[in-house]
Amino acid sequence: MAVGSQIEWTEATWNPTTGCTKISPGCKNCYAERLSKRLKSMGVKKYRNNFEFTEQPNDLTLPYSWKKSKRIFVNSMSDLFHEESRMEYIASCFHVMLDVERHQYQVLTKRSEKMKQFSDLFENFFGDIIPPHIWMGVSVENENYKYRIDDLRDTKCHTRFLSIEPLIGSVGKLNLQKIDWVIIGGESGYNYREVKKEWILEIIKQCKKQNVAVFFKQWGGIRPKSGGRIINGRIYDEYPKISSFDNILKEIAYDEKEFAKFCKSKLKEKSALLNI
Ligand code: SF4
Repeated sequence: MAVGSQIEWTEATWNPTTGCTKISPGCKNCYAERLSKRLKSMGVKKYRNNFEFTEQPNDLTLPYSWKKSKRIFVNSMSDLFHEESRMEYIASCFHVMLDVERHQYQVLTKRSEKMKQFSDLFENFFGDIIPPHIWMGVSVENENYKYRIDDLRDTKCHTRFLSIEPLIGSVGKLNLQKIDWVIIGGESGYNYREVKKEWILEIIKQCKKQNVAVFFKQWGGIRPKSGGRIINGRIYDEYPKISSFDNILKEIAYDEKEFAKFCKSKLKEKSALLNI
């Protein structure tokens, strides 16, 4: 969608899909829903379906237009692994990410199971896992949704991150094995739910202990910047260390359409097996 994102931990946003459906308490005051309504009322064509899940094939090629390397948040206005998102369309999005390798992509979801399922298809097709410049992440808002971290651990990829935002309850004990980066943030907007300092500190402490990079994005409040981002006199501004890695996938010539077809057909086989 845009270069120069307001989101502290990224540099640009790319929305090859828009719209979503609320799935857990973290979605209650969804910023993407509010913004979609606003953009629709302003007559922005891309948001004519308001917050209904919509593929945006016209935006698929946007990363090609950014000549300098960027950190790109994939789908700030949606969830790529939404129930209605077709596996072949997801494959097309990944094709772009593989092809435009100069960027780093931050793919964040609350649909961790579908993400894991897609990563299996990816590995089956390429014979290798999702490369390190495509960071795969899950959102966790309180301790009831920590199962998404387990799904992320099982996702076939190199770089994994957590967005613990909006933090609306203690997450308790965290297993951060195989996790490279943790973002923490309080909620913002008129109906924001206040974050407790001890919830933030317990996460930071566990990141330090388990040697995981931590980024404290915001305290939250009416506006994202209302409370600032200093905690105990300091700013936590760390990023994952992505070791230089020989990406063998860039040597593989493959047909983009075959990849999409593969994802579609394998899913059909699986559905037939499960009788769904
Ligand atoms: S998953 Fe994300 S985009 Fe979708 S409704 Fe929830 S908060 Fe909004």
